[in-house]
Amino acid sequence: VHFELTAEQQELAKRVQALVAEQIAPGAAARERAGRYEPGLLRALAAAGLFGLRIDERYGGSGLDAVSTGVVLEELAAGDVSVCYPVLNAALIGGVLRAHASDEQQSSWLPGIAAGTAIVALCLTEPDHGTDAAHIELSAVADGEGWRLTGEKTSIMAGRYATHGLVFARTGGPGAAGITAFYLPLDVPGVTRVPLSDLGSRAGGRSRLRFRGVPVGSGAVVGGLNRGFVAVMRGFDYSRALIALMAVGAAGASLREAYQRAGARHAFGQPIGRFQGVAFPLVEHATMLHATRLVAYEALWRGDAGLGHRVEANMAKWWAPRAAVAAANQAMLTFGHDGYCEDEPLARRLRDVLGLQLADGSENATKLVIARQLLGRENAP
Ligand SMILES: Cc1cc2nc3c(=O)[nH]c(=O)nc-3n(C[C@H](O)[C@H](O)[C@H](O)COP(=O)(O)OP(=O)(O)OC[C@H]3O[C@@H](n4cnc5c(N)ncnc54)[C@H](O)[C@@H]3O)c2cc1C
Repeated sequence: VHFELTAEQQELAKRVQALVAEQIAPGAAARERAGRYEPGLLRALAAAGLFGLRIDERYGGSGLDAVSTGVVLEELAAGDVSVCYPVLNAALIGGVLRAHASDEQQSSWLPGIAAGTAIVALCLTEPDHGTDAAHIELSAVADGEGWRLTGEKTSIMAGRYATHGLVFARTGGPGAAGITAFYLPLDVPGVTRVPLSDLGSRAGGRSRLRFRGVPVGSGAVVGGLNRGFVAVMRGFDYSRALIALMAVGAAGASLREAYQRAGARHAFGQPIGRFQGVAFPLVEHATMLHATRLVAYEALWRGDAGLGHRVEANMAKWWAPRAAVAAANQAMLTFGHDGYCEDEPLARRLRDVLGLQLADGSENATKLVIARQLLGRENAP
């Protein structure tokens, strides 16, 4: 077992830390208040190559491994979780397109994603179908050479500003075997967007998207007719570990601030860190975050090595946000009343990691996947 990041990965982490210190952390409170990214932020992420992490060099990306992508998201989340979402989407959708799109589709779509001229959203969840995504209803009806999409998606991160979507639609019979994935521009007549008013990560732009007879050509189908569901579920095996690292990155930053505070704040004539009641909870949360971080990186490492990683990725996905919520809360308490201000990074991170409990699937949804792997489908819920 070898736990150290490679020299390249350490270098990448330092580059992202510098970007966070200079361009992401300083604007986080204002960004959250405005509920949108400041002008130029997405361009700065693109210039740093963060939209091309999982895209081959021939299409303008850096073709990095999954572990390196995890390093980027963990570091970015320490600065601002809301900024992670377009990067996460590009990594997830870039990976799905790499695995399932034709060469022609890849050469037409991937350069735009890598360059950040195409900001992508994953459009799966619907008002009546979240965990039971296999039953989505948004319909794609054959129309001449192509299709027309009608229906509603909701909870789409980056939905407010994304230029393109990977949209899952019903083209066949009931269940997962009747779902097709389409990659299409969203700035077209027939698509309307309604931003949601969120508890946290407000600049992330989570939105409802309505499709009213939106025409798409047959060239927009990704991975074959009625085969879209498998593509996204395989993608989740990897993005769930990335989301776990976003949770760890954000809560880890709060814990580091709490260690400082425990030394700086005095009560009863000594630093509060000298009280076991202050220090030990921080130690316990640090331990839990450390352990869940290792599971998340193991999942990514296994993916890079071509090994099965469904169980590990799903373990990381339910555990890390739960550990992060507890750690971020404890860090906030360590600051006493000072931590309980909307603009404070501590309160913001707590709101952000709450959302990560649901993004890409709830705790129960991930446990269902693990149970089916460990117990066998016939013996699991
Ligand atoms: C921050 C954030 C970002 C998101 N980003 C995206 C995105 O970009 N694209 C997208 O398509 N979606 C996105 N989502 C939606 C997310 O995938 C869904 O919220 C999630 O899949 C759960 O679906 P639901 O909210 O409809 O809850 P429901 O499916 O209604 O579930 C409600 C509760 O019931 C439980 N439950 C449901 N079924 C079962 C079962 N069989 N066994 C046990 N418990 C069950 C769930 O665990 C949950 O606690 C995002 C959500 C959030 C909060």
